[in-house]
Amino acid sequence: MLSIWSDLARQRQERQQAHLYRRRATVQASRGARCQVDGRELINFCSNDYLGLAQHPALITAAQQACAELGVGSGASHLVCGHTRYHQQLEEAFAAATGRERALLFSTGYMANLGVINALLGPQDVVFEDKLNHASLLDAGLLSGAKFQRFLHNDMAQLEKKLLHTPGRRRLICVDGVYSMDGDIAPIAELARIAQAHDTLLMVDDAHGLGVLGTQGLGCCEGFNQEQVPILMCTLGKALGNFGAIVAGSDLLIDSLIQFARPYIYTTALPPAVAASSLAALQLLSTEPERRLHLQHLIAHFRHEAALLGLPLRPSPTAIQPLMLGDEALALQWQASLHAAGLWVGAMRPPTVPPGTARLRITLTAMHSVADIDTLLTALACLTRQGT
Ligand SMILES: *Cc1c(COP(=O)(O)O)cnc(C)c1O
Repeated sequence: MLSIWSDLARQRQERQQAHLYRRRATVQASRGARCQVDGRELINFCSNDYLGLAQHPALITAAQQACAELGVGSGASHLVCGHTRYHQQLEEAFAAATGRERALLFSTGYMANLGVINALLGPQDVVFEDKLNHASLLDAGLLSGAKFQRFLHNDMAQLEKKLLHTPGRRRLICVDGVYSMDGDIAPIAELARIAQAHDTLLMVDDAHGLGVLGTQGLGCCEGFNQEQVPILMCTLGKALGNFGAIVAGSDLLIDSLIQFARPYIYTTALPPAVAASSLAALQLLSTEPERRLHLQHLIAHFRHEAALLGLPLRPSPTAIQPLMLGDEALALQWQASLHAAGLWVGAMRPPTVPPGTARLRITLTAMHSVADIDTLLTALACLTRQGT
């Protein structure tokens, strides 16, 4: 046997012993917030489909029509012959909605972040990243070879100090708009001011803000113009209920990405049906605001009741509500108890979150009812009493 196999087996065993082993559950059926998983019906509290658009008839119809017309696969990359009018329409609609000159579709958010940062930065440059940034932003910064500067979460004073002391040919600040494991929001106004004052570019990854935040559902950068937030990245796989990602900014930015972003150039374009149904989802943000309002109501209700129960929540105004437990084994134990009560919640452990901060990551969606939230609260109250 090759030694690499025994080494991998040892590594896997260590992960299991540390309560860090990961496994997948197989979803057999999904209807609203209910899903069938391994033969059981559960209320889903771990989906990022915050508005319930993945099952919306308008998205399904748009996808079916585009498939009937153009087939399933795009056939090639955007620069060869994969760029259809559906892709073009979605880019134009997103640019218009966010007040940007242009927008560019990527096949995933991970690839968008790799593509943008690596097209713009190299070894002579500096990237400034929040410590709690999404893995794709961190990986992208490391891969670029730029000088890598991390600042403490949302610590603008430390960021400014680092900006003063770290010169470079090009400089870029990268943050999550809404932090994916904590649910809190980056201080966009402050970041925009600091970036401009220090001749530095700002990039915001608003994967979890689009569709949820803003009076029009355009995310945490709604109301900030292209000069304030020159690079806006949003994913289509979360509140838009679909798949892929889109980057919006100036004509020069987008044209540079088309020329130099390797994860854009060397990959097959998204299926046209994905672009067509994402366009339908974007339109629903303005035509069905009641989804967003219902979600906001559920968030407020959950937080109010959880505070009365003394649950250890983080101060999050978004659909992501982390319940801090600290210990990995405890997080798995709570997850299992909730599962037994018919509730599906994610247990987040290192390295996805910092050591000692294991948590349940509860996500609320517009598909939940107040009664669903109350069912979850009752189960959590029961676990809290057992723990004391
Ligand atoms: C989910 C997520 C991504 C990755 O997007 P995918 O389209 O799933 O690859 C990037 N950034 C953040 C903050 C995310 O939450």
